[in-house]
Amino acid sequence: MTKKVAYLDLLKAHEDSDQILKKISTVIQSGWYILGNQVANFESEFAEFCGAKYCIGVGNGLDALRLMLFAFNIGSGDEVIVPANTYIATILAITQVGAVPKLVDPNSETLNIDCEGVKKAISKKTKAILAVHLYGYPAPINELSLLAKKHNILLFDDCAQAHGTIVDDRRVGSIGNASAFSFFPTKNLGCLGDGGAITTDQPEIADKVRLLRNYGSANKYFNDLQGWNSRLDELQAAVLLARLEKLETQNQQRRLLAHKYHEELFHLPIKMLPYNSNAVYHIFPILTPDRNELEAFLKGKGIETIIHYPIPPHKQKCYNGIEWASYSFPITEKISQEELSLPLYPGLELKEQKYVIDMIKEFYG
Ligand SMILES: *Cc1c(COP(=O)(O)O)cnc(C)c1O
Repeated sequence: MTKKVAYLDLLKAHEDSDQILKKISTVIQSGWYILGNQVANFESEFAEFCGAKYCIGVGNGLDALRLMLFAFNIGSGDEVIVPANTYIATILAITQVGAVPKLVDPNSETLNIDCEGVKKAISKKTKAILAVHLYGYPAPINELSLLAKKHNILLFDDCAQAHGTIVDDRRVGSIGNASAFSFFPTKNLGCLGDGGAITTDQPEIADKVRLLRNYGSANKYFNDLQGWNSRLDELQAAVLLARLEKLETQNQQRRLLAHKYHEELFHLPIKMLPYNSNAVYHIFPILTPDRNELEAFLKGKGIETIIHYPIPPHKQKCYNGIEWASYSFPITEKISQEELSLPLYPGLELKEQKYVIDMIKEFYG
């Protein structure tokens, strides 16, 4: 069976090649490719979009997480509370700055970070909570914020799947001490390569991250910190400036598709997260014990799906034999057995979605 419905078709999602070519040409003609006007403009527009005071563009989402933790002096001996059910980058950032991830199993209804679990995980060594707005759904950030204040610990969020996700009346990226974003091509706001950013309201942190991304240097050949080289390119910033303009429209398209899946599939023996108009539907997850059979059936019908994620971070080979990874996280492990992500992106045609829905109905007879 040839492929009929792609999980994600980036050309169809954007249809902006002409506009992007013009933007790229402007950057080429400028003769300036690293840390110039495009990055500065994007940083101020994206900060405004999030409702944050500062945005600092960096090389990718993992670096955004690492530089954020490093800027707050999180390192050896510190514990960071983090959901066990996340993409491995969230965990890698913690272990790569030398801190210990304190994993908490997610809430079984929301699949997102569980506040009760967080409360239990707080210890004398806890330095921060790192929440993840997984699948584009808002994590319970206000509750976590109260907890963090009460225990005098920091609150961060991984917003790599959540550009535009709303908590109360605010967009994520404006809550907590700092937030990390990825602009990997498949994200809701994606560029044509790697890119990432940190947002914060704290000026001293913004200054420090600006140094850290650029060899620890504010003035060329004067190095105040042992920094990295992790900068957002001018070319990528130009692409992001163009795409930021249509992010809200695209997020709305994602919500409409998500709503349709809900309407059509609610009576089937599959679990979906409750529809949430504050979510940006980076991923549309369904859970079913028949996951592998359904995946194979849909593949046979030419429908691409993806599993997020087949192996949870604590079960990955890279953490073999490490104590915090040796505990069991039953909800996370169950999600990895039962989760299947359906095609959903701006540009997915209604007739394609109808075919996906019809085939799922056919599977369940
Ligand atoms: C994509 C992603 C990242 C990492 O972003 P990169 O730009 O690929 O490094 C981090 N956390 C989550 C939750 C992600 O989905």
